[in-house]
Amino acid sequence: MPLLVMKFGGTSVATLDRIRRVAKRVGREVANGYDVIVIVSAMAGKTNELVGWVEETSPLFDAREYDAVVSSGENVTAGLMALTLQEMDIPARSWQGWQVPLKTNSAHASARIEEIPTANLNAKFAEGMKVAVVAGFQGISPEGRITTLGRGGSDTTAVAFAAAFGAERCDIYTDVDGVYTTDPRISTKARKLEKIAFEEMLELASLGAKVLQTRSVELAMRYNVRLRVLSSFEEYDPNAGTLVCSEEEIMESNVVSGVAYSRDEAKVTLISVADRPGIAAAIFGALSEAGVNVDMIIQNISEEGRTDMTFSCPTNQVSRAKAAVEAAREKTLINFHGLVADTEVCKVSVVGIGMRSHTGVAAQMFGALSAEGINIKVITTSEIKISVLIDRKYLELAVQALHDAFGLENAG
Ligand code: ADP
Ligand code: ASP
Ligand code: MG
Repeated sequence: MPLLVMKFGGTSVATLDRIRRVAKRVGREVANGYDVIVIVSAMAGKTNELVGWVEETSPLFDAREYDAVVSSGENVTAGLMALTLQEMDIPARSWQGWQVPLKTNSAHASARIEEIPTANLNAKFAEGMKVAVVAGFQGISPEGRITTLGRGGSDTTAVAFAAAFGAERCDIYTDVDGVYTTDPRISTKARKLEKIAFEEMLELASLGAKVLQTRSVELAMRYNVRLRVLSSFEEYDPNAGTLVCSEEEIMESNVVSGVAYSRDEAKVTLISVADRPGIAAAIFGALSEAGVNVDMIIQNISEEGRTDMTFSCPTNQVSRAKAAVEAAREKTLINFHGLVADTEVCKVSVVGIGMRSHTGVAAQMFGALSAEGINIKVITTSEIKISVLIDRKYLELAVQALHDAFGLENAG
């Protein structure tokens, strides 16, 4: 029997009514002759609420207990979806991550999937089950503890199941009707893309476009999963949405194909650090051990054997970063004169495969920002992206200015 994976995000399962609505879509695919693995997120807002409870209870929380709490939202929607399908006379049952089992490593709160044995679900499909509803976002560690895959992780659950079970397609149903040139909630000029290359989607996702979790795009690329993003609110159309596919399937591409942003960034500077071998290793080693996701790094030119070291990380990790650096200062040779954190910054990036063969994109980007009077605090580049850190109050203005500057309203 051919198999489909259908994933429904939080807004698509936010109420019992919406669950019934999307269950009808699942029913249609069953009627078309498919076995279906449905991956569900928690109801909209639920995971944020659970994270809030954890942070209020314990600011520097034990990540194993964080996972125990925040994974629970998906359990509710998985059970409700299975019940809804049963009410429609469709043979369905729910599975929590550990029951499958979806095996991960022990990196709590951002665990990586190691293996998805197919035997349990396949045995049930062979007995006549038509739909397996799997709680997204969660798995089990080698120690037998519940893990989660990082925010937005249900996308990754979906792609991983599609790869493991050899699904014909992995459809990600969400609250927008595809991948756009930028977040359609920020710019009304954003255009929907019919197709986007894995590499570009990977960059957009890792730079903040939360329509797909980065890891899900990585997996889709590695296992060549046919991945489609579409709306659960629009009428059914087999050609709807955006196809995420290999570069070869795309005839023409723009130099810049999208603008992404990440709102909650912080810039932390260690003032006057000793400029000696081993210091950067000690600082970033301590940050990594504390689970801080360091993104951009700059080291100033050294003067009299001392230098300033700046890095960026998510705003909600600043206290963790400060604690880690202070602890390392006491334990090791790191000494610095002070630490300043600017928590009012954001990151805006332009992405495009065309940058590989075009020069001048950086100059055009900086020109567009300067025309709006926006000051750039940190810059990083890679082969197909340029990112800047700027004051958060300019986020919308910067996204729109860059969208205009690269003519993206004519894309799609
Ligand atoms: P779900 O709960 O379905 O997983 P998410 O909120 O995680 O949905 O992701 C969908 C959201 O991603 C959209 O509502 C949109 O605001 C945002 N988004 C950011 N960048 C883009 C983009 N380039 N294209 C489409 N959506 C985007
Ligand atoms: N519910 C989780 C989150 O909000 C996972 C997901 O929706 O993909 O991050
Ligand atoms: Mg999501």
